[in-house]
Amino acid sequence: MGKALIIGCGGVASVAIHKCCQNSEVFSEIMIASRTKSKCDALKAKLDGGKTIIHTAQVDADHVDELIALIDNFKPDLVLNLGLPYQDLTIMDACLATKTSYVDTANYEPIDTAKFEYSWQWAYREKFEKAGITALLGSGFDPGVTGVFSAYAMKHYFDEIHTIDILDCNAGDHGYPFATNFNPEINIREVSANGSYWENGKEIETKPMEIKRVYNFPQVGEKDMYLLHHEEIESLALNIKGVKRIRFFMTFGQSYLTHLKCLENVGMTSIVPIDYNGMQIVPLQFLKAVLPDPASLGPRTKGKTNIGCIYTGLKDGKEVSYYVYNVCDHEECYREVESQAISYTTGVPAMIGAMMLMTGKWNKPGVHNIEEFDPDPFMEALNKWGLPWVEDFAPTMVD
Ligand code: NDP
Repeated sequence: MGKALIIGCGGVASVAIHKCCQNSEVFSEIMIASRTKSKCDALKAKLDGGKTIIHTAQVDADHVDELIALIDNFKPDLVLNLGLPYQDLTIMDACLATKTSYVDTANYEPIDTAKFEYSWQWAYREKFEKAGITALLGSGFDPGVTGVFSAYAMKHYFDEIHTIDILDCNAGDHGYPFATNFNPEINIREVSANGSYWENGKEIETKPMEIKRVYNFPQVGEKDMYLLHHEEIESLALNIKGVKRIRFFMTFGQSYLTHLKCLENVGMTSIVPIDYNGMQIVPLQFLKAVLPDPASLGPRTKGKTNIGCIYTGLKDGKEVSYYVYNVCDHEECYREVESQAISYTTGVPAMIGAMMLMTGKWNKPGVHNIEEFDPDPFMEALNKWGLPWVEDFAPTMVD
């Protein structure tokens, strides 16, 4: 039915590409384009033979002209950006120049500042609207499914949502003393930044890992979780009218935190370049080079993830609470697509977001966050494509 250009061929892209090939009715032809073409070719070799026609290409997505040439040549219906957040704006520029719709899973970050906000991408709203093309921002799990859950809660169960707690639990064990489940550089930038939550119309900043809670996650058990800043807080505060508080918690084991503290204390998580034997190196990028590649964790990771949202608010004048979550099993993901659950829970919604635009189920020229669209077809697709969700109308609350 349609053609998608997929940028990047890492952990998340690999899952999304597997899923596009399972969904060949929508994705009849795809092009995988990334910095290292051999990775695209290896994946193509694995997946060739199905109904989806797969092409590969080399591209440096930091260069708008290279992207424009690639898009002009392949003429996709949309570009699915699964590279790194640093490339969001160059890819959006190329989409504008070629009038092609755009989907990503993470907001733009300048490489030299770990600053997570939508301002840079929201600045493209008018340009995309005028060009008649849609940009769907944040179509992973968090952000992504968490925004769809929020729109679904608002549409079906609440007149007013007052609080949102997003709980991201990874109880997977890969057997390494320290490794990250997705790109180490992006992951460590995120967790070593100050935390923040939204309350009564403003963002309140906390020190990294300052706020800790313990939660008993369904199908997983009791875990320590810590309040983090997370990008969907900004868009949900804008789009869920009347919301009074939004918090984001992620679970971390003690070994991960002890290693991270030590790495921080010795300066290895810094993004400020240093001089090393006459060469400029960024400590965090060097650390990424010595840590296990997240893609290599797939075969070793056991256990489950549980990611979801707890809402409180009012329906017909009565107080209501609602918890909706997905549980995903690392080993089952590996058996299906040879990836662990973190890449899986991001790659599946990336494919679904692209499918929503390709099929015209979602069509709203401009730049939009995922909770601005009708959640129903996306929720249905989550059940169909491997991320079924569970509802609880009397959840234990986080204090
Ligand atoms: P990986 O590091 O595994 O993959 C990134 C891919 O992008 C690699 O193939 C890399 O190429 C390619 N790439 C990097 N720079 C360029 C460039 N300049 N031009 C072309 N290709 C480039 O990362 P992940 O798959 O773990 O993460 C992908 C994205 O998903 C990230 O933006 C991350 O923030 C996001 N994410 C979102 C989540 C969510 O729930 N919303 C959760 C997890 C991740 P090479 O192979 O040469 O390195």
